[in-house]
Amino acid sequence: MKVTFLGAAGEVGRSCIMVEEDNTKVILDAGIKLGKKIEFPVLDKEMLKSVDGIILSHAHLDHSGYLPHIYSMGYEGFAFATKPTFELTNVLISDYMRISNPEDVTKQGLANMTKKHKIVEYGKEFKINNLRFRLLTAGHILGSAMIEASSSKSRLLYTGDFNLAVSKLLEPASNLGLKADTLVTESTYSGKDDIFKPEKATMDLMVGSLNDTITRGGKAIVPSFAVGRAQEILLLLDDYMKSGRLQKVPIYIDGMIGKAMRIHRHNVIYCRDELQKRILMNDDDPFKSSNFNVIKTRGERKNIINSSESSIIVTTSGMLTGGPVVNYLQTLGKDAKNKIILVGYQAVGTPGRELFDGKKEIQIEEKTIKVGLEVNTYHISAHADRPHLVNFVKSLKGLKNVYAVHGEKVKADEFVDYINKDHKFNAVAPEQGSSYSA
Ligand SMILES: [Zn+2]
Ligand SMILES: [Zn+2]
Repeated sequence: MKVTFLGAAGEVGRSCIMVEEDNTKVILDAGIKLGKKIEFPVLDKEMLKSVDGIILSHAHLDHSGYLPHIYSMGYEGFAFATKPTFELTNVLISDYMRISNPEDVTKQGLANMTKKHKIVEYGKEFKINNLRFRLLTAGHILGSAMIEASSSKSRLLYTGDFNLAVSKLLEPASNLGLKADTLVTESTYSGKDDIFKPEKATMDLMVGSLNDTITRGGKAIVPSFAVGRAQEILLLLDDYMKSGRLQKVPIYIDGMIGKAMRIHRHNVIYCRDELQKRILMNDDDPFKSSNFNVIKTRGERKNIINSSESSIIVTTSGMLTGGPVVNYLQTLGKDAKNKIILVGYQAVGTPGRELFDGKKEIQIEEKTIKVGLEVNTYHISAHADRPHLVNFVKSLKGLKNVYAVHGEKVKADEFVDYINKDHKFNAVAPEQGSSYSA
């Protein structure tokens, strides 16, 4: 098998790799890189002519957002993914089209894209010409999968984004008895110091911080990705509020988060057993909690901003690159009584990262925002941390090669050096466009 890295090499964003065997070529993930300017993987019209299939690990745009471009270039093959991944991808891609309206995406391309879905169940083998594939649970977001690719001679495992810790919504990634000659792993949090506390310990601290803000009469803004972190945090906040540990104030939900909530609700069979039982046996549906208020109009948003009442606002976008969070920050950002809580990954070059780094003035969509409010970070991660990554590498049977992608270059480089110290593996942080035999 041959593997070629078409994106996410030394960076977080535009995930895209090609695996090939004899004349079969399959693309794993087709993402874009969001930032001040949108970047694409190195996969053009000419290369697409020989592609036999595309498999998506999950719905986040850094893994799926290139699909409309691919179908607009005339690709006519299928895309393979789990049912929730397709549903969430549709929502995220239509939001991307509405906001960015990319010139090269055609109506015909979008129409073809929606017709070419092949739904795949976890664990069930499927073939694309000479290659066999399986999707395995990844614990990252609803529907997320690791992708196992097998030929007659070798096996490659691509983690996509994965989480080996238990979360409120999902079981951790499957890691029992996996065999692979080659591992392509994400390395978002592969740095020496990337060691996360258990989710509950972090949430206890975050809830303490929220209570402080509420007591002083402030509002707390929690920017989040629409899919994944938002639902995880909302369900956790609801638990804390119901148990009385978090003071009772309205929790407002703004942006695409509400739509994604509904998709979670009707795909609850893909969530943790505990959550399914709670809904099906006890008639207790946390997705529809009375603590949540979904914002539907600009007027409602304006009223929340202007009211003197304390509240918690969970809104997009997670890295402050746009979305309703900008409206909230313009007014609420000046007041030291208020607080912004960063919970997810903040990519280099995004306003979220600037805020995290302590900047007192940030630019979002040509608007200047003065940072007067308190900035807190509580890492509620949907990714494997360094100890989990190292254990995962060691747990794979028959492993020879490790490629670290989807991580900042310094982290990926240091991580592979660490892995190589064992001398057992050939670990590489690949360059964009490079190929290896796997
Ligand atoms: Zn992701
Ligand atoms: Zn990602």
